[in-house]
Amino acid sequence: MTKMNSPADIASRLVPGRSIPKLARRGDMLALSKALLAEARETYAIPESAQTVAVGWTGFPGLEARRFVGASRSIRARTLLPTPVDHIMAPRSNAQFLDHAEQDVANAFIDAIQAVGGGSALDGEWLRVAISHAKGPCSACVQGLTDRQMDPGVLAQLSRRFPGLTVTLLWVSEGGRLHHAILQGGERL
Ligand SMILES: [Zn+2]
Repeated sequence: MTKMNSPADIASRLVPGRSIPKLARRGDMLALSKALLAEARETYAIPESAQTVAVGWTGFPGLEARRFVGASRSIRARTLLPTPVDHIMAPRSNAQFLDHAEQDVANAFIDAIQAVGGGSALDGEWLRVAISHAKGPCSACVQGLTDRQMDPGVLAQLSRRFPGLTVTLLWVSEGGRLHHAILQGGERL
């Protein structure tokens, strides 16, 4: 059996502006998620302790080198993160649930797909989203993924908008374990 790439190997293969390295092994996803979040913090001078940051990446042709970076409102107020078009908005009006990192990532991805004429089905395409918070996405962002009667949160809206797209959410819990949620057609699988 070959040796697993160390987190340092993954980080060293990650070059800003270049395609994100394809992973040979499933276990490398944890290292890649951490490396992409670290890269985003470095690029936008976001302190290590500030939550929440999210980075999306995709295999969609022409967008393989893109990082869709999002951050919560308090971080955004202090950095020069690009502001995507508000294609998707949170369904709740309480400020605590508005403008989350996941919403930024979804909107930046939609901007990019539109810019390359990617269409609306995205059959067989994928988007992965690493979330810096140890608890993963909040209840407002995942709202509607398991109950169609609820107003869809930003992630359910994204997933419904592109029925053929597989969205994988990734986060590392306090214990250092990688967790994931897979979304397709507006539902969590
Ligand atoms: Zn949220």
